[in-house]
Amino acid sequence: KSNAVMVEKEESRVTFEDVAGLEEAEMEVKEIVDFLKNPKLFTRLGAKIPKGILLVGPPGTGKTLLAKAVAGEARVPFFIISGSEFVEMFVGVGAARVRDLFNKAKEKVPCIIFIDELDAIGRSRGKGAYLSGANDERESTLNQLLTEMDGFGSNSGVIVLAATNRADMLDPALLRPGRFDRHIYLELPNLREREAIFKVHLRPLVLTGSIDVNFLASQTPGFSGADIANICNEAALIAARKKEDGVGKIDFLDAIDRIVAGLEKKSKIISAEE
Ligand code: ATP
Repeated sequence: KSNAVMVEKEESRVTFEDVAGLEEAEMEVKEIVDFLKNPKLFTRLGAKIPKGILLVGPPGTGKTLLAKAVAGEARVPFFIISGSEFVEMFVGVGAARVRDLFNKAKEKVPCIIFIDELDAIGRSRGKGAYLSGANDERESTLNQLLTEMDGFGSNSGVIVLAATNRADMLDPALLRPGRFDRHIYLELPNLREREAIFKVHLRPLVLTGSIDVNFLASQTPGFSGADIANICNEAALIAARKKEDGVGKIDFLDAIDRIVAGLEKKSKIISAEE
């Protein structure tokens, strides 16, 4: 796997308008946006903003999206790395990348660092990790991350957001005060939240007839935001293939069928592996 584009700096154009059904999580991250926009408001009262915030939730629930929205709303640079990119690297390389990332970020304060799949580097030491040869590397990368987190002050302007599906798998050292000590939970959307997510993803589409979002939401229990985004795009592709003038209800139903079939296949493969 290439490790050429490990550290990406992005200008995030995502805003809270693009995020749906995550009201509570959104409220919690708004404080970060306010801080990044106007740090003095906080510092003059002696308030310390958290340095590290962990976004915890199942795949596709919008962790990356929410992190991008924080950067987009605050209009600050967004540095993104994925923990899984570190897994197959030589000892020392991962640590050097982490150092490099924090150095670059510190030159661009205020800014956001986003670490996707934190568990890939931050998995609890000893929990089966010793079986894999990648362990030394993971440990040195993890240690570097801890060092970096400790190395800057609370109100320095660098805020580290990280995503994981499993907070309980993480090395407790990561969760200590001054590191990832604030957790925000994202859940799979309920009916009302799925409706809201459908609305966001219907926005760019050309529709025919009236599309009942309540009906679509009722047909998709257990679906994540990413699944819903997928359905909307798939429906548009189906309509385009049929050379329709707009995306209709039947296209959405076909798309749901396809996605459900895909999910079933995936879960069969997973259970066959067990
Ligand atoms: P993973 O754990 O798999 O990395 P994630 O939680 O980071 O997933 P995202 O990558 O943020 O999920 O979601 C993928 C896409 O799904 C988003 O870019 C967006 O299009 C859509 N999506 C997910 N959640 C939401 C949401 N709450 N509102 C609107 N769109 C969403």
